Amino acid sequence: MSSLFPALADGPGDRCALRFGERSLTYGALAGAAGALAARIHGAGRVAVWATPELETAVAVTGALLAGVAAVPLNPKSGEKELAHIVSDSAPDLILAAPGAELPSVLSDLDRFDVDASATGATPEDQPSDTTPALIVYTSGTTGPPKGAVIPRRALAATLDALADAWQWTEDDVLVHGLPLFHVHGLVLGILGPLRRGGSVRHLGRFTTEGVARELNDGATMLFGVPTMYHRIAEALPGDPELAKALAGARLLVSGSAALPVHDHERIAAATGRRVIERYGMTETLMNTSVRADGEARAGTVGVPLPGVELRLVEEDGTEVAAYDGETVGEIQVRGPNLFTEYLNRPDATAAAFTADGWFRTGDMAVRESDGYVRIVGRKATDLIKSGGYKIGAGEIENALLEHPGVREAAVTGEPDADLGERIVAWIVPADPQSPPAAEELAGHVARRLAPHKRPRVVRYLEALPRNDMGKIMKRALVADA
Ligand code: ATP
Ligand code: MG
Repeated sequence: MSSLFPALADGPGDRCALRFGERSLTYGALAGAAGALAARIHGAGRVAVWATPELETAVAVTGALLAGVAAVPLNPKSGEKELAHIVSDSAPDLILAAPGAELPSVLSDLDRFDVDASATGATPEDQPSDTTPALIVYTSGTTGPPKGAVIPRRALAATLDALADAWQWTEDDVLVHGLPLFHVHGLVLGILGPLRRGGSVRHLGRFTTEGVARELNDGATMLFGVPTMYHRIAEALPGDPELAKALAGARLLVSGSAALPVHDHERIAAATGRRVIERYGMTETLMNTSVRADGEARAGTVGVPLPGVELRLVEEDGTEVAAYDGETVGEIQVRGPNLFTEYLNRPDATAAAFTADGWFRTGDMAVRESDGYVRIVGRKATDLIKSGGYKIGAGEIENALLEHPGVREAAVTGEPDADLGERIVAWIVPADPQSPPAAEELAGHVARRLAPHKRPRVVRYLEALPRNDMGKIMKRALVADA
């Protein structure tokens, strides 16, 4: 297949490819460093990458892709148990790390290779096929232990080119990046995306609203973030005219990895005149849908299927939802060149994830609006509450709760109830811990906004919601703690 990164071979060599803080690499320098690494690891079975938010991580993954060696990004914040599981599951031949990075003792048996971002060398000649595994990325572990998704080269090319079409993404785009590099969002979209386009990335190391404002006011054109980042932006906007100016001038603000609360979307729109666009994807499928850059961004929706992605909604009895009525809920199933090939060492899980005719069952439930926009209702496993004969999505109740001034964070779950089947439970982080809004007050607030049967029957107050490193709410931890 053709190269994943044409700009590395014959792009403008002096254009900035990557910048992490004070350190940066042009396309010419990246071609040298990644090429030298590729020559060294060529022929390896698999390599693990100690995926700190540093230049070396981007060089390591690029080098592995040039060599045709599958890379397994490791989360440096994972506990020893999770790391031990991932390393024994993926069995890498060696681990690539930034010089000086301290690896935990559970990785000490692996051969270590320090990535030299100033090396120069030529890339091995042979081109891997498009079905060669490019990355093995572990899922976020939101609903169970992380599973290793084997992502072929074809899927990277397909998803990044589909996004280029949807987002009018070009070599002129400069991305502000504040995400970790061991998941699809930060690594595939945030690093490989700009490199495939021939554009550039400025990584903040650690996300701050000041960093976002500085870079967008200094020539950056797009921001990718998770909802917790946009929440922080929404909170900071009223007191930060520089941030408001930065967002107002950006070409594209994109959110993904979890649902962006409507309240935050609307606050950002009101303060900047700009609407964040949402895209929907998974480790297993890379990107499935997005609001298009030339389309209408509507709060609470994830837009339309990307070019090349087939998407259908399927009811529990297996019938396809034909209606575009904004009401009929079905599981999202997808098919297309963007899909993974298998869960590593999990043939049963892989088989269970696909229908007989090759559709991937996402486990996410959604409705389709009249113009085809997909609105995610929640995950089948944790967000669909069956109460009093109704099927109720947790997301819209969370959105309603977040509009209450006394609520800072909210998560909704179901728990067994003798009368209702399941009752709706709201987990609330109050804006003011000294005077949390009363349960009856919140129930009335939801009943007035949505419908009486959607009101929470139980309200539990917390200091913070359990979240993973992408800011996703870990509902299974909430329920386990109850
Ligand atoms: P695990 O599969 O290990 O339980 P996970 O599903 O959170 O964890 P990821 O592959 O990182 O792991 O996340 C994909 C999921 O994130 C999707 O299935 C969906 O539930 C959610 N998601 C991603 N983007 C959006 C979005 N824009 N709106 C709502 N949900 C989203
Ligand atoms: Mg998942």
